[in-house]
Amino acid sequence: MIKVAKFGGSSVADAEQFKKVKAIVKGDSDRRFVVVSASGKRFPADNKLTDLLLLVNAHIEYHVDCTTLLKDIEQRFVDIRDELGLKYPIEEKFEEFSAVIKSLSPEYIVSRGEWFTGQLMAEYLGMPFLDAADAIVFHHDGTIDMERTATCVRDAVARLGSFVLPGFYGSTVDGTVRLFQRGGGDITGAILARCIDAGVYENWTDVSGFMAADPRIVENPRSIHRITFDEMRELSYMGASVLQEEAIFPVREVGIPIQIKNTNDPEARGTVIRETAAEHEREHLITGIAGKKDFMALHVQKAHMSNTVGFVRRALTIFERYGVSVEHIPTGVDSFGVVVNGADVKDSIYSIVSDLQQELKPDSINMVDKLALISVVGRNMSRRAGTSGRIFGVLGEAGINIRMITQSSQEISIILGVNNEDFERAINVIYDKFVENEMVTSENASR
Ligand code: ASP
Repeated sequence: MIKVAKFGGSSVADAEQFKKVKAIVKGDSDRRFVVVSASGKRFPADNKLTDLLLLVNAHIEYHVDCTTLLKDIEQRFVDIRDELGLKYPIEEKFEEFSAVIKSLSPEYIVSRGEWFTGQLMAEYLGMPFLDAADAIVFHHDGTIDMERTATCVRDAVARLGSFVLPGFYGSTVDGTVRLFQRGGGDITGAILARCIDAGVYENWTDVSGFMAADPRIVENPRSIHRITFDEMRELSYMGASVLQEEAIFPVREVGIPIQIKNTNDPEARGTVIRETAAEHEREHLITGIAGKKDFMALHVQKAHMSNTVGFVRRALTIFERYGVSVEHIPTGVDSFGVVVNGADVKDSIYSIVSDLQQELKPDSINMVDKLALISVVGRNMSRRAGTSGRIFGVLGEAGINIRMITQSSQEISIILGVNNEDFERAINVIYDKFVENEMVTSENASR
């Protein structure tokens, strides 16, 4: 089975981390294709090389001398090379780079973080280096030209057999270097896995996968060993992020699973993300809980609203007019709510309310702010009747007022709105009652 192994910034932050990467790659002969990010933080207050390179761009833009900054960046690479006893001529390459830096595009400058990291990693692993500018092809609108990319990648596989590919950038057909969004090395890994039809896309990072709740809220939450793509989307959207979200699409479409692993604890199981989960094993009822604070809900009420065609659409048009994206629309018979991110309507809320009043002539509009949303996610909830009722029950017992409830269409998540100040307690109450212990199997499922 071919494995693509992508190592994030913290996994390649210094020589010690490089050694861990080598042990992992050499520990499995299936790991023939390695993708690297630019060196990340070595300690919490450190800088990621990508951030330093962005700072170089800002210096150039404002005509400020960046010699010292470039020296600092160069030194990071020199340290790794010397500690590992490599030969790569960093000083020479950096001099060439610095000499023409003002004529280079900002995206090209930033891409050198992964480029140099990749060069060092290739030498250290004894693998060929494949420049992402020769493999990952962008359309001019910034999307990926998957067909051309697949051809370039397959040619490279036939030519080189195995390689180290720097993440985060590629180029258009005319050779102009383009970047993905931040964290985009994960996307490079996914595209590569797809193009070579890998059996698994391994994403090596500094945590042992997804956790069932945020460890800053719940003490020592359990790890999630298996999760579906849909569940992961729900949890990530609510803030539980381990992987660049866009990275799931290239592999999901062709059925390649993603395995999140911890470079600092390679024996830990990590999390496997796939389209569907195994049916017959005992599984947790709730896969995970995530949430965010500071939403706002506008409840609009009008008698006979349910008979008025286009009422909700007209309301949503008003939000669109102000460029506000709508998170949820809980509906009643003669009322509906629109839940938005509080920060998105900071400057426009009074104009929105006034437009709603003029254009819809509702009986009332009621505004609830400082609302926290909690998403309780679990593919198995749909197989066990009464789960939502029990969740509401435990929150009620804890004296937590639920201000809003919605359920996603595939029944994989229940979203609850509570007051900001109840947020942490609500998550802990649900976690204690349902996540740690409650399991479900196909036999004991009620339908
Ligand atoms: N180096 C880039 C960043 O810091 C991309 C990546 O790490 O995946 O965003």
